Amino acid sequence: MSTTTLPAYDDVVARYEPVIGLETHVELGTNTKMFCGCPTDFGGEPNTRVCPVCLGLPGSLPVANKAAIEATIRIGLALNCSIASWCRFARKNYFYPDMPKNFQISQYDEPLCVDGYLDVEVGGELVRIGIERVHLEEDTGKTLHVGGATGRIHGATESLVDYNRAGIPLVEIVTKPVPGTGALAPEVARAYVTELRDVIRSLGVSDVRMEEGSLRCDVNTSLNLPGQEWGTRTETKNVNSLRSVERAVRSEMLRQASVLDAGGRITQETRHFHEDTGDTTPGRSKETATDYRYFPEPDLVPLAPDAAWVAELKAALPELPRLHRRRLQEQWGLSDADMQSVLNAGAVELIEATVAAGATPAAARKWWLGELSRRANETGVELADVGATPAQVAELQGLVDAGKLNDKLARSVLEGVVAGEGSPTEIMTARGLEVVSDTGALTAAVDEAIAANPDIAEKIRSGKVAAAGALVGAVMKTTRGQADAKTVRELILSRLGA
Ligand SMILES: [Zn+2]
Repeated sequence: MSTTTLPAYDDVVARYEPVIGLETHVELGTNTKMFCGCPTDFGGEPNTRVCPVCLGLPGSLPVANKAAIEATIRIGLALNCSIASWCRFARKNYFYPDMPKNFQISQYDEPLCVDGYLDVEVGGELVRIGIERVHLEEDTGKTLHVGGATGRIHGATESLVDYNRAGIPLVEIVTKPVPGTGALAPEVARAYVTELRDVIRSLGVSDVRMEEGSLRCDVNTSLNLPGQEWGTRTETKNVNSLRSVERAVRSEMLRQASVLDAGGRITQETRHFHEDTGDTTPGRSKETATDYRYFPEPDLVPLAPDAAWVAELKAALPELPRLHRRRLQEQWGLSDADMQSVLNAGAVELIEATVAAGATPAAARKWWLGELSRRANETGVELADVGATPAQVAELQGLVDAGKLNDKLARSVLEGVVAGEGSPTEIMTARGLEVVSDTGALTAAVDEAIAANPDIAEKIRSGKVAAAGALVGAVMKTTRGQADAKTVRELILSRLGA
């Protein structure tokens, strides 16, 4: 690790211009692998989801997965790409233990989708990110280094290989270089990956979970002096969260600036991002395309998607997330800032589903951004995994609207929901949390409060109605918050003849 003091970020962006680029790999959620019939679900005993094709045994022949081709074309269309009317798979030759065939079937100079764009919003501005290509390939297996402290090969006593993932369809999405974003470069990178993830999720072709590796991102960064040619870029590999995408760009900008400031040169290389420190360290120096000795895959026929089929897929694309969000923002009547907090909390779909289940947008937003967000933060889980479903939140709000729960009781019920005790109605009944508005049941508590506070009662009798609040508070306390405050107030006033 470098011990050089890094320059300040503001100082770096005042003197240098960053150019970023992103390469994203998305594992498709097809039932079977790209070129064989092996199942693709996550997990499973190592090396149980393999066959002669994905193990590359002699004599086996691949057959392309139509569902994967369809998914890739839909991704290309959603990213405004042109779809090739004819293209081929290519062999990318390299030797690595997690790749049983010693080559990967990929696409080289004939990708399935080219020349598109994705618009992302950063700080209220629209930034258009050019898409160079979207192509289809197969994933590698996984290597596990054991016996060492870090899980890395260094210090390990043995290495194990699991081929279950080998051959799962993988879509690679490569942006064009993105210049001109200046100080916002890290945020633009993050916004792009976020938007791309949302687009792909809206297509339903992948679960795009960065923490499970079904969406993986490599970030290219370079710096140049204003008016000069673009600098040499580095590629930061395996950035595993949205936050890390932003940190990786920023960290690489600072590191490169300190090298350039000292009169050094940037080496074109792969670097590894470290979640713990936010630094990057050098990996291997970058291979060039000639190192891979690409050639057309001789075991597969060319891919020639029918124009009518592509048009059909295009016509059936769902509403894309940015437009969808704009429509929801209008429907929910939110300001840009309010919508941004909904987005930041990852609550758009949850609120949408809660509204669909019968709650008002305001009520849905209140629960998801309030109590449930707080809880998700405390327990360190995503809002969607906090333990309450949109239907349960809508049911809870329904009980509030019906006067069966007040705000405080509703929060207690929600605690039970999150703890898995059942539906809001079940929990309300089981825990005896329902609001008491029956005057018979409340009169005793009201009389008790009046007797215990004669001076306040006297004030009310003499016309100072505002003093009733103190007695309402006393009744709420003795009824553990379960009394209906409005009924209690009416009772107090009528008992005291005010
Ligand atoms: Zn297989």
